Amino acid sequence: MAHVVGIDAQARQISCEDGTVLDYDAALLATGGVLRRPPIARADRRNVCLLRSRSDAEAILAQAERSRHAVILGTSFIGMEVAASLRERGLEVTVVGKEAVPFEKQLGAPVGMAWQKLHERHGLGFRTGATVASFDGGADLTGITLDNGERIRAELAVVGRGIKPTTDAIAGLPCNDDGSLTVDAKLGVTDGLYAAGGIAQLPHRGDRPPIRVEHWRVAEQHGRLAALATLGQQVRYAAVPVFWTIQYLKRLDYIGHVSQWDDIILHEDPEKPELLAFYIKDGVVAAAAGLDRDHDTSALVALLSLRRDWTPQALGESPARLLASL
Ligand SMILES: Cc1cc2nc3c(=O)[nH]c(=O)nc-3n(C[C@H](O)[C@H](O)[C@H](O)COP(=O)(O)OP(=O)(O)OC[C@H]3O[C@@H](n4cnc5c(N)ncnc54)[C@H](O)[C@@H]3O)c2cc1C
Repeated sequence: MAHVVGIDAQARQISCEDGTVLDYDAALLATGGVLRRPPIARADRRNVCLLRSRSDAEAILAQAERSRHAVILGTSFIGMEVAASLRERGLEVTVVGKEAVPFEKQLGAPVGMAWQKLHERHGLGFRTGATVASFDGGADLTGITLDNGERIRAELAVVGRGIKPTTDAIAGLPCNDDGSLTVDAKLGVTDGLYAAGGIAQLPHRGDRPPIRVEHWRVAEQHGRLAALATLGQQVRYAAVPVFWTIQYLKRLDYIGHVSQWDDIILHEDPEKPELLAFYIKDGVVAAAAGLDRDHDTSALVALLSLRRDWTPQALGESPARLLASL
């Protein structure tokens, strides 16, 4: 394995840290992202952890063994997954987030609230609409102080912020402000050079405004097309993005993509924690989220792949039944 330190797209050469220079006919950049420590006072305390790699996970678990209280910064996917995992290990866990409910930005308030209730039923504490002002303690963390002055005890803090695309090595290419690379629908950056996964921003469904998705399944979908592209078979990426997370053995799926919706239509049974949400944009279902509705969300992948103009009425309350009837 080698660490790439430079790419010359004109000369079609890749430079490695050990001095090796590789010529290429076709190259794929799939360098993912890096996490950054938050710009908060004393964030370098021992026991203030980030999570990206396996060794990060092992460090968190080792500290969890020595801790009774944990604080999680961030109410998005990584933060909530870590929170559930630590809670299941018996720690008292408090999640601090700027948003009013978890996943508010991605999934909207109703779905976020359903997810928050799931966590609360498992004993998790929330401080939403709040930010951390400082990490407290000496070399070891003893707690955090919120911007409103509240202090929360913690021997372990995990920061779950988004990633910054790892594109520092590719000077000379037109990176976006967030570090990502804009590619065409066939993942092309420039002649012979392709980008995929978390660094790539590309037209949604092949012809819509570009989006960048930090999800494993999307990276896998890109990978297949990128492999074909580097072999000279260029195929447009028009797949329906899919994301899932499992917390307390409950599964949340998100199908499609929409960053701003006109309406959310919920199908839920007040007696059950399950729900299905349709995100409506311009009268059609642009995305959907399902909480423990695996049959319906997997059917939605097929249905949204077939057509892009599904109305919520046409999809009905059970996309799985609809798919079976087609
Ligand atoms: C803790 C955590 C939990 C997640 N949970 C989920 C989840 O539940 N569901 C989901 O869909 N997604 C999840 N994700 C996101 C998912 O892991 C990413 O979207 C996906 O891995 C992106 O794939 P990638 O190939 O773009 O990059 P990565 O998987 O990050 O791979 C990038 C690779 O490039 C290498 N690399 C980087 N720079 C260089 C260089 N200069 N030279 C050589 N090699 C280099 C890296 O070492 C790495 O091996 C999670 C991510 C994290 C961190």
